[in-house]
Amino acid sequence: MIDKQIKGKITCCLRELHLPAIRECYPEHSDMARAESLSYEHYLLGLVDYECEARRDKRISRFLRESRLPLEKSLSTFDRKRLPAKVNARLSVLLDGSFLDRAENILAFGNPGSGKTHLLCALGQELIHRERRVLFKPCNILVQEMLVAKRDLKLPQFLKRLSRYHALIIDDIGYVQQNREEMEVLFTLLADRYEKSSVMITSNLPFSKWELIFKDPMTTAAAIDRLVHHSIILELNISSYRLEHSQLKQEKNS
Ligand code: ADP
Ligand code: MG
Repeated sequence: MIDKQIKGKITCCLRELHLPAIRECYPEHSDMARAESLSYEHYLLGLVDYECEARRDKRISRFLRESRLPLEKSLSTFDRKRLPAKVNARLSVLLDGSFLDRAENILAFGNPGSGKTHLLCALGQELIHRERRVLFKPCNILVQEMLVAKRDLKLPQFLKRLSRYHALIIDDIGYVQQNREEMEVLFTLLADRYEKSSVMITSNLPFSKWELIFKDPMTTAAAIDRLVHHSIILELNISSYRLEHSQLKQEKNS
């Protein structure tokens, strides 16, 4: 076979095998291997490694897209020096993602503007870069979606879809007062994920006020019990970032 025919055949086979990255890079890699007299194994490793890397990048891009995370709230735009030292140290450990393997939950408490949402979103984004699947949902939207699913008798399917994610970020639990039906679906979700996969929650309300969310003391205790059993609590008892920055701006202007 002449050179051109071989190349055509290789391209065909690589297309059939769905190896687009190798298809793109193999001519250059072949030239390099010849110039550097690489072993066959070295050459092959270079090709398959390139394909794996390309697939990994694609997977991460897909995870980032489907996560619904506000991507501007990343670790690089987050000022970690504002965090209490204990929380900052915890964050370093959480970034490795092993808490997801233990289905541990993260509960971030603090005043409005203290950076709870930004912190958990930044952590979520870092976890995706470690090939974990994360989904971000504002609590009120999540509850409404679950009610629709329940009405259509599709709540089990909805929960199953959520269970594909290693972590579910529920933002601002308890921010909007919920009625009984809303609280019930929320409780169902927490019970469904208990000891199977992680939830990461932000809330302005300390546990002592969670009866406002779950209405009766029994359900409140049961919900807190499930969440806290395997959990890491991040207390952000710090001033509001928004407030501080608008004050700084005002001082600059005057
Ligand atoms: P919370 O969820 O606690 O109410 P947010 O995370 O929404 O607070 O933070 C309020 C605003 O301040 C957001 O725009 C956020 O990006 C910013 N912010 C808060 N903390 C920090 C921080 N440590 N570094 C950078 N930006 C921050
Ligand atoms: Mg928030």
